[in-house]
Amino acid sequence: MIQNQSPGAPDVVLIGAGIMSATLGAFLKELEPSLNITMFETLEDSGLESSQAWNNAGTGHAANCEMNYTPQRADGSVDISEALKVNTEFDLSRQLWSYLIRKGAIPDPRSFIHPVPHMSFVWGQDNVAFLRKRFEAMSASPCYYGMEYSDNRAKIAAWAPLIMDGRGNEEPFAATRIITGTDVDYGALTRLLVKHLTAQPGVSVHYKHRVVSLDREHNGTWRVGIEDVDTLERNAVASKFVFIGAGGDAIELLQKSHIPEGHGYGGFPVSGIWLRCDESAVADRHHAKVYGKAPHGSPPMSVPHLDTRIVEGRKSLLFGPYAGFSTKFLKRGSLADLFESIRPGNIVPLLAVARDNMPLAEYLIGQVLQSSAHQFATLRQFFPKAIRKDWREAVAGQRVQIIKPDEQRGGELEFGTELVAAEDKSIVALLGASPGASTAAFIAVGVLEKCFANKLTEGGWLPKLREIIPTYGIDLIHDAHALRKIRAETAAILKVENI
Ligand SMILES: Cc1cc2nc3c(=O)[nH]c(=O)nc-3n(C[C@H](O)[C@H](O)[C@H](O)COP(=O)(O)OP(=O)(O)OC[C@H]3O[C@@H](n4cnc5c(N)ncnc54)[C@H](O)[C@@H]3O)c2cc1C
Repeated sequence: MIQNQSPGAPDVVLIGAGIMSATLGAFLKELEPSLNITMFETLEDSGLESSQAWNNAGTGHAANCEMNYTPQRADGSVDISEALKVNTEFDLSRQLWSYLIRKGAIPDPRSFIHPVPHMSFVWGQDNVAFLRKRFEAMSASPCYYGMEYSDNRAKIAAWAPLIMDGRGNEEPFAATRIITGTDVDYGALTRLLVKHLTAQPGVSVHYKHRVVSLDREHNGTWRVGIEDVDTLERNAVASKFVFIGAGGDAIELLQKSHIPEGHGYGGFPVSGIWLRCDESAVADRHHAKVYGKAPHGSPPMSVPHLDTRIVEGRKSLLFGPYAGFSTKFLKRGSLADLFESIRPGNIVPLLAVARDNMPLAEYLIGQVLQSSAHQFATLRQFFPKAIRKDWREAVAGQRVQIIKPDEQRGGELEFGTELVAAEDKSIVALLGASPGASTAAFIAVGVLEKCFANKLTEGGWLPKLREIIPTYGIDLIHDAHALRKIRAETAAILKVENI
């Protein structure tokens, strides 16, 4: 199905109709309304892969509760520098969404975002001591204004009754809470953004069209080869700029572009299973995202959490993820994905990562071998009175971690995201999946700065960019006044809590 066919060659091709392409498209069209933008998507609609509501946890990641962003230093103190970065990156998404709501492009914030407090919850003496130190470091920053700490049973029970009901007193426990947290339906948001884009002249979305090749023409443009997934008919368009926003498939397309900057990159897929509860009698008793501490050797995105989810107006609970291993790069991808991504250029990095990450391999194998009884026992550590029949398994999206060349070790595994661009900035691929959809606006701004730096001038895109992101160029970690002001403004528009 083709929506709003634009005439002529596109200025921009966006590969994939997930949250990342949709967000970049939204920025570009605001900054230069005359741009011709064409989006190609293998599936039948937008936001159906990792961005789909149930394929991710829907946390508006502001590093409030995710303890993997706050490692403990050798001297026992807690390093919150990464958390502060993630925290203020989310402010960029809040500003973009607020701008689009004010403009009428998104009719109602309740269609994709809801206020849900973010909590960290730990048990055991060492973990409690860690959480206390983490709280002291974080609450000293304006970014975490309003964060609360408690090791008091009644108080934590008031915040999240399910996690205390039936819990013994054998071990000490503690929690932090911040009420400004959010739950976001990134699938719904993607569809709203794509709908807004295709309502504008010069934008077209081609569903059920897979990008199969990327070749550079003599004049510097890109010839984007596409295949109709139903008829297998092949076609091509030429474009001056290509964004590879293909989620897990971005590695494969980067390889197909043959740009030297992509040499040696590979991907390591991590799959996930959730437990999901739609029983309103249970779901209505919990209103928080409660993150625990990751077990040793686990990848950072496998931190177990018990989450309130609000999808299509309905409240449910989500627990997990139980990490696993599948060779697919997308949930609806192929089991051959991992093998097809192995090239002479990335064998050394792949082998080096395999050699250096045995605890991760052991953890994933352990997770795959876990019986459903084991999995349920992990849920009971969070929700002691959980009843098996109230919960069902749901398959989460795939996350493809970046494997990249490293001079010293041969290769390294990265858990963040990275933009890999050609030297002339005519093509850029987004690799990796953490912190994820929450930082889509930050990533899109990164693409603008990397690939359209010559347009970011006072006579060019800058004034409009500042209208969309009023704090553009301001360091929100250190400017408490700007931070408070923008949080108050965006909270009012997004209808989320502000302290
Ligand atoms: C288990 C799990 C939990 C997560 N939890 C969170 C969370 O709580 N908060 C958060 O912010 N983020 C979270 N994330 C991360 C978040 O889901 C992703 O970062 C985000 O959805 C990625 O968006 P995307 O647009 O890059 O990819 P996707 O949404 O996967 O979109 C890529 C699109 O490209 C299409 N495509 C692929 N190849 C081609 C091709 N050759 N031609 C045309 N189209 C193609 C795909 O079909 C797909 O629709 C989580 C992810 C997982 C897996």
